[in-house]
Amino acid sequence: MPDIIVIGGGITGLATACSLADAGLSISLLEARQLGAMASTWTLGGVRQSGRDPAELPLARAAVAQWAEWPQILGAETGYRRRGNLRLARNAGEAETIRAMVQAQRALGLELEFLGNLKDIRSIAPAIGDGVVAASYCPDDGHADPDLTIAALAGCARRRGVILQERMPALRLLVQAGRVIGVETPVGRVHADRVIVACGLQSAALLEPLGLGLPMVAKRVCVMQTTPQTPAFEQVFGVANADCAGRQEIDGRFRVTTGIGDWPGDPARWSEAALRPSFADTAGLIARTVPILPLLAAAGLERVWGGLIDLTPDALPVLDAPDACPGLVIGAGFSGHGFGLGPVSGQILRALALGEATPFALAPFRLDRFDPAAAQAPLTLHG
Ligand SMILES: Cc1cc2nc3c(=O)[nH]c(=O)nc-3n(C[C@H](O)[C@H](O)[C@H](O)COP(=O)(O)OP(=O)(O)OC[C@H]3O[C@@H](n4cnc5c(N)ncnc54)[C@H](O)[C@@H]3O)c2cc1C
Repeated sequence: MPDIIVIGGGITGLATACSLADAGLSISLLEARQLGAMASTWTLGGVRQSGRDPAELPLARAAVAQWAEWPQILGAETGYRRRGNLRLARNAGEAETIRAMVQAQRALGLELEFLGNLKDIRSIAPAIGDGVVAASYCPDDGHADPDLTIAALAGCARRRGVILQERMPALRLLVQAGRVIGVETPVGRVHADRVIVACGLQSAALLEPLGLGLPMVAKRVCVMQTTPQTPAFEQVFGVANADCAGRQEIDGRFRVTTGIGDWPGDPARWSEAALRPSFADTAGLIARTVPILPLLAAAGLERVWGGLIDLTPDALPVLDAPDACPGLVIGAGFSGHGFGLGPVSGQILRALALGEATPFALAPFRLDRFDPAAAQAPLTLHG
């Protein structure tokens, strides 16, 4: 019998399992499909502090520090590069939005610069196109490679003795006298002292039978990846109205994403085919990104895919061990920010599972903050 079961083999579950494994406990991780099957490899891979909600900013800042240490801790490369994030304005209105964001974030202590003309922007990123008029620049932001990161986490978890079980869905949580005591799987019941639910969009379905509502809406993002190109762009870019974002990967491929769109399907029944971008999605993304990086016009198109975002009403995650349900820890609803937060989410969920203190204020991430009638906050995805 494991001491702790982690449900979900994305960056959140794997980072948590790695973090817990040196506490001298036996850890078992259940993954319904294969490790990194969902958002953690669909992702753009941006590691960003700029533009974050003030409640999330301390976590994002700590995560940036930890991404630099991860290769050594995990014993493998994650593709992490700290080369900055540019949020771009394509007209005067967007420039004002960016200027206000820079002021607000500087007031919170973030090193963020406002670049008011194309010359200054090109001194940082020469490949930027003529239509860009202003930008914010956060030099400490960056990006990492999703596949390398998942592989590095999985390797570290295995070496530390975590049992990683793929194609092993958690069917339901087992509860006795109000306490979570394990998980039912297709091959039987597995008991544990604590269960950590970190299965993205599908977390809500496991919590609902316990009377715990985790309100999340599935939003779809389309992604395009080019063939490898000569290194030309080091930062991650986003735009003021969040209708596209992108970066050049370490192997030279560009990965660009749309903003978010509605997805009416059942999150439990997603398939690659159902998420696949349409011609119109792809054409729209090309029309928005080529003016930003004109070199993309000549790049070969290698892959397109769609991904889902687990959007909560306030676009902040749930990181909580609800009092109402001893034995249960939740890490879900990352609302498009969970890749960059990965190292810190893992540490916080570890602390919650072990009943240890964390240096972070976690009240904004409690599950009980949700009022069912709460208004939906707008989601922005900037890489
Ligand atoms: C296109 C796109 C771009 C993004 N860009 C960024 C970005 O630039 N920066 C950033 O920080 N974030 C970004 N995000 C968000 C980020 O990728 C996610 O927030 C993060 O990967 C969430 O990780 P996770 O481990 O919580 O969830 P997931 O990666 O979704 O992992 C959940 C896992 O749980 C498994 N699972 C589900 N149900 C069960 C079950 N019942 N039993 C067992 N296993 C189960 C799933 O198969 C899956 O592998 C982006 C997301 C998308 C889709």
